[in-house]
Order: sequence, then C-alpha cells, then structure tokens
Amino acid sequence: MVSQTIKTLPKPHKISLVALIIIVFILTISMLFSADASRHATSQVLQPGIKYPVDLVIDETTVRSSNVESAPSTSETISYQVKSGDNLAKIFKHVGLSASDTYHVSRAGKDAKKLLTMMPGEFLNFTFDERGKINTLIYEYSETETLIITRKSDDDYTSMIATADVYSKPTFAQGEIESSFWNAGIKAGMTDNKIMELADIFGWDIDFAMEIRAGDTFNVMYEERYVNGDFIGFGDILAAEFVNQGEVFQAIRHTDGSYYAPNGRSMKKSFLRAPVNFRYISSNFTKKRYHPVQKRWKAHRGTDYAAPTGTPVVAAGKGRVIKSTYDKFNGHHVFIQHGDRYVTKYLHFSKRKVKNGEIVKQGQVIGLLGSTGMSSGPHLHYEFLVDGVHRNPRTVTLPKAEPIDKNEKNAFMQLTEQRLVLLNNNKRIMLASIN
Ligand SMILES: [Zn+2]
Repeated sequence: MVSQTIKTLPKPHKISLVALIIIVFILTISMLFSADASRHATSQVLQPGIKYPVDLVIDETTVRSSNVESAPSTSETISYQVKSGDNLAKIFKHVGLSASDTYHVSRAGKDAKKLLTMMPGEFLNFTFDERGKINTLIYEYSETETLIITRKSDDDYTSMIATADVYSKPTFAQGEIESSFWNAGIKAGMTDNKIMELADIFGWDIDFAMEIRAGDTFNVMYEERYVNGDFIGFGDILAAEFVNQGEVFQAIRHTDGSYYAPNGRSMKKSFLRAPVNFRYISSNFTKKRYHPVQKRWKAHRGTDYAAPTGTPVVAAGKGRVIKSTYDKFNGHHVFIQHGDRYVTKYLHFSKRKVKNGEIVKQGQVIGLLGSTGMSSGPHLHYEFLVDGVHRNPRTVTLPKAEPIDKNEKNAFMQLTEQRLVLLNNNKRIMLASIN
C-alpha cells in the first residue's frame, strides 16, 4: 500500500523543472512590480524576445543535480538512475551527500542491504530537507517490494520494506492444433513460457515431440497478476486440459504447487514421455500423420527424434547408467537402468555427458544429440525396454503415479471441481463465439 503512494507521485525531475520555471516567473513578475524596478532601464517595459538579467540567488546546499536531468534545480526531490559501475558511495557523492551521510544511511538496518544489490537502470529517489540532509530514500527494487529509508536524526536512519498487494485473476486460452502445438499456442495468445509450461505439465503423459496430431486441442486457465491495478505478468497455470489423439488429460494445480489429475494422482510419473524437448524437433508434422507411431515401432523397435546436432537429451527417468561408450553401430550411446524392470537406451550422441555407473535424475542431460555410428543424419534413437523386451512407452502399463496426500484430498477435490467448471465454461464461451 505504501508503494501506491510512491507510484502516484509524478516523476521528480519533472517537478523540479516546473518548480524552476514557476520561481523564475514569480521573480520576474515581482521585479516588474517592485519599487526597486526603477533602478533598471528608464521605462521598465519588457520587450518580447529579449533576455533580462534576474538576480536569482540559489542556496548552494539545496542545489542538486542528477543524471536524469543535468540542469540544477531547487527541488528537494531527486531521482537518480543507477549506472553500471555505480556504488552507493559514488551515487551519494554525485547527489551531493557527505561521506558521513553515506555511512549512516548504509547502516540503516538490515533492509538497507538491498542497496548493495542495485542494478543499472533502477532508480533511487531521494528527498532532502532544507539543509540538504536526506529525509527519505526510496528504492523500488521489484514490482512488489520497495525499500524505504527514513531519517530519525542526522546520524540515525531506519529502513523498512513496503510490500504491495498482488492481485491475480484467471485468464483462459484454448486452441486446436493445425500445424504444430507451438503455433496453436501462439495463436491462442499464450506466451512462450506458458506454452512450455503447459507441455511440461503433460510431459509424463504426452510425447509433444512425436505424438501431437492435427485436431488435438488444449484448454488452459492461468493467472494474470496485477500490482496496484497495473498488469505485471502471468502467474501459474491453475488448470489445464489436453486432448491428444482423442485421449483426454486434465491437470489441476494444488496449493502445494504440484499438478494432479482430477482423481488425485500426481502428473509426475516414473518416465518422461520424450527425452528431448519438443521445441528442438525438426520433424515434418503433416508427414507424421500418415506414419502412425505403432507401425514404425514394430519395424524399428524405437523412436527416432530428428533434431539439430547438440540438442540436449535427458534421462527419461531416474536411474543408474549401465553403459556409456562408443561403437561403430550405435555411435556414442548411453543405457540407463531404472529399478529392476526398465532400461532406456539413447543412441548416436555427438557427446556423452554421463559416465558408467553414474546415478542420474529424471530430466538430467545425459548427452547431446548427434549422428555418430550407423546414422543417416542428426537424430536420437530412443528405446524403452521392460523386462528386456522392447516396448512402446505410450501403450505399456507403467508404475502408477503417487496420489495426493490423503490429508489434502478433500481440499484438492473441491479445488478441482471449481476449476473444471471454470475450464468447461470457458470452452462453451469460446465455442459460442466461434459459431
Ligand atoms: Zn532409429
């Protein structure tokens, strides 16, 4: 709330310019009408376009300059924009403060330490008393937080952090995929980050690199955030639905920050569906429609992800590296054992990033995509084995995801009900506006 007051203040250097003009104007007028005017030219009629001297005296201690406005001003407020290479001592000297002022301000409590992490381009706003001592120093270091340093006496300053209220309201986006998920996301008005986040939420169920098809749809509800009425950006995805090849996936964000399916199962699972981020995939989307994954799978016993050399490849699940080596068929390749039953294989790397025996986390980069060994171009050949047999991870039954904590279940179910209603309402509204 405090920063609302701060925000509504006009720019300080504008105040100073206006103040200067008013002072000059008043002095000119008063000279015109003062008795003393007689000592100037005989008939004291001012001619337009001619400059007349003004006996304007400015008290040295109130003259300040800043790099925002180079002209000296009589205002008691200065807004200083931090430049690269600045430090507190430099800035204080620039605005005319003594070394002892700098010392006392820098010791204005623990919050004052924020001044040590100022970034170029940020503003320090000073107000001074008539002696040139700081009354307040205000540093708005984030959208929502402001440091305020106040003088209690000349050698004692206090500091506090004012936090503005963040208000958020839900917004919606939905679309149907024509050429690619990315294009559909952009068309729906989503930012790059929100598109990536949506793919991440469903990344354990859907292979966004290989299995997205024309006609797939998505519907997502996320936060729009405001501070004091100003839009400051998008917040979290609150609920989302993705229909992939006719299969419906839904996810709700719980208050713990994790996503769960409406039945309370975590969206996080033992295996990511794709070991490569879909943004790198250079495959031809329209062509894929005529080559169902299932058919290629039988012939090939794996999935080929075509992407530029150097694309990071991640472990689909946590496990132990059981092979990290080179041969002339597989090129640089890595095999990972997950528990007793599962093995994943990654071939044709340009560079391996893990060693034999190493424990890896899910999502950890294990190598860079390449074209080593028997390979006709840069791609990742990925295999998924259950009990030593090649399987399609899309159709195989995988370990069940962890359910939500049973103490949280009721709260989650209520949240889910509300959010799915909102999501479905939005779907109806959008359909109505199209028809
Ligand atoms: Zn292959």
